[in-house]
Amino acid sequence: MSDSTKYIFVTGGVTSSLGKGIISASLAKLLQARGHSVTIQKLDPYINIDPGTLNPYEHGECYVTNDGAETDLDLGHYERFLNVPTSQANNVTTGRIYQSVIEKERKGEFLGKTVQIIPHITDEIKRRIKMLGQSGEYDIVITEIGGTVGDIESLPYVEAVRQMLWENREDCLVIHLTLVPFLSAAGELKTKPTQHSVKQMLELGVQPDILVCRTEHHLDDSIRRKIALFCNVVPTSVIESMDVSTIYEVPLLMQQEKLDTEVLRKLHLPDNGEPELNEWKDFLSRLKKPKNKVKIALVGKYVELKDSYKSISEAFEHAGAANECKVELKWIHSAKISDDSIEEKLGDVDGILVAPGFGSRGIDGKIEAVKFARENGIPFFGICLGMQVAVIEFARNVIGWHDAHTAEIERDSTHPVIDLMEEQKSIKNLGGTMRLGAYECELKEGSRVFDAYKQKDIEERHRHRFEFNSAYLQDFEYNGMLATGKNPKTGLVEVVEIPNHPWFVGAQFHPEYKSTVEKPHPLFIAFVNAAIKQKEKFAQKSDSKVNS
Ligand code: GLN
Repeated sequence: MSDSTKYIFVTGGVTSSLGKGIISASLAKLLQARGHSVTIQKLDPYINIDPGTLNPYEHGECYVTNDGAETDLDLGHYERFLNVPTSQANNVTTGRIYQSVIEKERKGEFLGKTVQIIPHITDEIKRRIKMLGQSGEYDIVITEIGGTVGDIESLPYVEAVRQMLWENREDCLVIHLTLVPFLSAAGELKTKPTQHSVKQMLELGVQPDILVCRTEHHLDDSIRRKIALFCNVVPTSVIESMDVSTIYEVPLLMQQEKLDTEVLRKLHLPDNGEPELNEWKDFLSRLKKPKNKVKIALVGKYVELKDSYKSISEAFEHAGAANECKVELKWIHSAKISDDSIEEKLGDVDGILVAPGFGSRGIDGKIEAVKFARENGIPFFGICLGMQVAVIEFARNVIGWHDAHTAEIERDSTHPVIDLMEEQKSIKNLGGTMRLGAYECELKEGSRVFDAYKQKDIEERHRHRFEFNSAYLQDFEYNGMLATGKNPKTGLVEVVEIPNHPWFVGAQFHPEYKSTVEKPHPLFIAFVNAAIKQKEKFAQKSDSKVNS
């Protein structure tokens, strides 16, 4: 390695779901708050080229970057913590690695050699890791290896890490995240799973430098010494990671445990004072001491797995804190909404968000939810498919086109108010072919969205094939649903609203991807604010009923 970038690898042992993404993001935050430029990369050991074609039940939400990459949801955490955009280079899968190697082989670039996992696949993995370092933009690259050490799929990644350590031990560091379970029958914390998982790393030729131990009980000195002794690290490199009530507390917890100073010491970087985390701490105190509370319905078809809507639920955390208000999400399965159940499901909420999605399952329930919000003056926010169903509902119940639909579900509707985008018509492949990534949008002055953003020109990220059918725009505007955001180049309708309603906004783009701790998203802030007002209005009405 010729550049002076430092490389930190984060691996996981014992079990999945220990929170490698949050630990990586928290460490990155601490290093960034000390003035370093840091980026985080996720290597995913599955064979899909990207998660774009995956059902959300598999790995949760598909996160979209500015450059239109469909990526793992951990990239959302990286952006939310660091407030710096990521790109395609920040997420690499086994599928992508093999695809590049096979393409090179077909071009004859291996000059007749046998193409093998070592060195060709591992070289490609190392190339993808170093690419971020060699961009010259970052002092530190943190690479999170997905999966659990010992899985067949992650072997080439651990081998690539071993090679990078062998090439340049000085500039590389390995953090291994493990579990120290508490056995209630024995009344004891157990270190054996950690010992075994480090042993597994050693068998693969990698000695972890730092162990982050996920635990439900404090690790006392004797446990720390025991882990250090058996895992061959110094006791200060045994870091405790206790369960906390919010992920946004983890950076402070890691600071208390001195993870950042341990990393600096091991990477021979100067430790010049405390990280500057004032804004972060302000956010946390607002998050933890709300003055108000609202209940918002999140209507979607994947609500059993909350990770499917990760960016949306996090955007509510940010916007709630900005409003000094706790946002309680009421998760509602769209397929379970019917005429009979709607009052029970939505009667007690201060705002309704209809989520993005694909396909026909649960669409009728989403349309019912929009109708309920529109007719009862409940603040409404529709995102992507949520915006599209708001258009369908308006066409059917206000304009009177009872068969209005989206061409995604009903190809032969006489009123295809949502239609396939022109450029999508010739596309056959499913992977990576939607309208993806950041596009400009021009907002109409005086609209709700303009009020929220306080500017005319914005840029937001997209992930869809269908769009508002502009052939019907006049009819919508005449009847009271306005297009208040349009793509300045193509004229595509990106935002619709009903001015004659307390707050009714549908966005074709996904604002949730851009909400961060330090920059909560203006549309989520405005929506939560509208929900607060709705709650106050409702309370006043009930008061006057009691007093009359
Ligand atoms: N299925 C819709 C489309 O492709 C909406 C997509 C979404 O909600 N992300 O246009």
